[in-house]
Parts: sequence; structure tokens; C-alpha cells
Amino acid sequence: MKSCSLTLFAAVCLVHSASAAFYGDAPDANHPWAVHDENRPQPPRVEPAEIVGGAPSDAVVLFDGTEASFENWVHARPDKKRKSDWVVQDGYLLAVRGAGYIQTKEQFSDCQLHIEWSHAQQLPGEGQKRGNSGVFLPGGIEVQVLDNFNNPTYPDGSAGAVYGVMPPAVNALRAPGQWQSYDIIYRRPIVRDGVTLDEGSMTVLVNGVVVQDSTPLDGGGGHKKRQSLTRPYPELGSLSLQDHGNPVRFRNIWVRPLRPRPADGGTDGRISEAATAAKRAEIGAEVRASAANMQGMDQTMRLLEAQMYAIDSAASAECNRQVSKSVEQLKVLSTEELESRRQEVLNLHKALSYLQRFDIIPADYQPAKELREIADALGWLKQK
Ligand code: MG
Repeated sequence: MKSCSLTLFAAVCLVHSASAAFYGDAPDANHPWAVHDENRPQPPRVEPAEIVGGAPSDAVVLFDGTEASFENWVHARPDKKRKSDWVVQDGYLLAVRGAGYIQTKEQFSDCQLHIEWSHAQQLPGEGQKRGNSGVFLPGGIEVQVLDNFNNPTYPDGSAGAVYGVMPPAVNALRAPGQWQSYDIIYRRPIVRDGVTLDEGSMTVLVNGVVVQDSTPLDGGGGHKKRQSLTRPYPELGSLSLQDHGNPVRFRNIWVRPLRPRPADGGTDGRISEAATAAKRAEIGAEVRASAANMQGMDQTMRLLEAQMYAIDSAASAECNRQVSKSVEQLKVLSTEELESRRQEVLNLHKALSYLQRFDIIPADYQPAKELREIADALGWLKQK
């Protein structure tokens, strides 16, 4: 398959058995694919890491313990205002007081982010002053990093909190000195023309424990303040790590973009009627194009399949011509001859019945009626 061009690969993928189509509920006004639709693209293959928490094959690795990977980051604070620098040592990245935030050169939108952090040992200080750092998503929303293993603070500022918005559901921290892991699934707010289409959400796992579960972002929060749901929001932004004056270590940082939501142009899930119509037209055109390489009944079945996505008048006329011709030919065959084409007849009957069931062809379509009579007369429909 490696030698195939992408176009050829796509064409091969579109060819499937006649019995695979006309199966689940047909596309409708808000769903461009049928239920169990085999024309739907296969999920791309991703190789998972050999160890849990490792970067899968499609991840953007932001820090892997090397000096080279620190090149993926830049200082948020101008050089002349910095009193120190972050340090790469022993495979981790250390926040140093006075160094300021660092941020990724690359910008991201909705993403899955993995990051691990630790404090060397029990640090001095209480509340927000013990081991404070933070992981910032685009738009300035912080997942708090803090040593509150045994250090109570305001709950919406504890580790795993969406800072100022929502405390973690539970405290799943390990003791200071051990590595903690965060897995963050971030969906940005979508605000257009002052209208909030989706206020965004965050799911966070601390050491594998869910502490935020699609938590609404509620404007994004912040220190001592709430923010408006309709504030302008960047479509793309850097990921940042906080220097809060405390020595916090980070390692194994990687990120994966997520598939777009319907409100963001995605076509998976329930989508608008306009987007559905556009996608159905696109799928219909692809399926019709694949029919051009077929012949006989295979082509007829494929053209009929295309009709369930979008009615194309030329393809509709061609379908009618081919179906009518096939039925006329079947009508004059002997029982023995029909027996040899039994599966073909039943497949066509299935397709026409399906398209009638979903009002894609008329309920009184004469060739469908005649085909049903042929199959019924031979007892094939009763045996199903
Ligand atoms: Mg912080």
C-alpha cells in the first residue's frame, strides 16, 4: 500500500462490498454520514508509546529532557527584565525565581497536553507560596501547579484546579519529591461576533485520576476575578509555564491537536443543516466518482449509494436508466437463470427498499415494485 498515491488509496478505500451500504439509518439534515457508514474516513493510525505517559507517534514533543528540546520554548519576559533563567538539568526543566514565564514557539488550539512536574522535596511556605507554578493554555487559563499534598489553600487554587474557576474534584497528589503527571484535554471557548458558541472546557487527570471532567471554562477565571464569557479569545496561542518564584521541575511535555468540534468547522457529530448539506454533497461526489471506475450492477449499486448523500439529477437519471434496464432484463429470465443471480437481485432490492424507506426515491417507483414481485414470487423475501 505504501506505493499507492493518496488519491489511489482513497479510491481503494471507497470500494466496498455492495452489502456494506444501505445498512444503518441514512444521512439526515444534521448528520452527513449514515449510521455505520463505511464511506466515513477511517481514523488515522497513531502508534502509542511503549510506556503509559509517553508521547504517541503524532504528538508534538515540547520537552524531552534535552537542551535541544528547550529550543521549543521562548521567554515571555524581555531579556533585560529577566534576573535569571530556566535551567535544563538531569532531564528536567527547572523554574528559577526571576526568570519569568516561558512559552512555546508553536501555537496550539484545542489539544491534549501531557506534562509531569515535581518538587525536589518539601518546600517552605504555606498556601499559594509553596511550590507554585502553573500550566497555561491559550487565552491565559491556568491549570494550577502547587504543593498542596499537605498544605490547604483556597480550593480553586490547588493543584489540578482550573485556577479561579473550579477546584479539582479530588486531591490526587503524590507526596513532594515524587513526580506528578497531568493529562489535560483542552477545548477553547468559541466566541464569534460577541456570541459564545461554546464556552470551552477542560478535562484534567492528575496521576491518572480525573479531577476535571469537561469543566466549563466560564470565561477563564484568573487571580481574584471572573471573566466574561464573551471576551475575545485567540484561536491559537502558546502554552506557557509559570515562574511563581518557586523551584518546580517539569519533564516529558508533549501535545496533540484535537479534531475540530462542529462549532469549529468539524464534521463529526451533530452539525448544522448548512454544514451537513455541504458535506453530504462532497461525500456524494466522491462516491459517484468512484462509480465511474465500475461496471454493470456494481456501478448501479454505487450510484444508488451516492444518492443517499446528495441527489444529483444526472446521476439520478443514470440510476433510473440502469435500474430500469436491469429489471427489464430480469423479468424475462427463467427461474433457473434468476437463481444464478439471486444475490444480485436481493442486493438491488435491498438498496431500493432502503432508499424508499428514507424517501430518497419514491415509494411508488415502478422498477422497485417489479423487482420485489420477482423476488417474492421466488420465495426469497420470506426466507430472509
Ligand atoms: Mg500558579
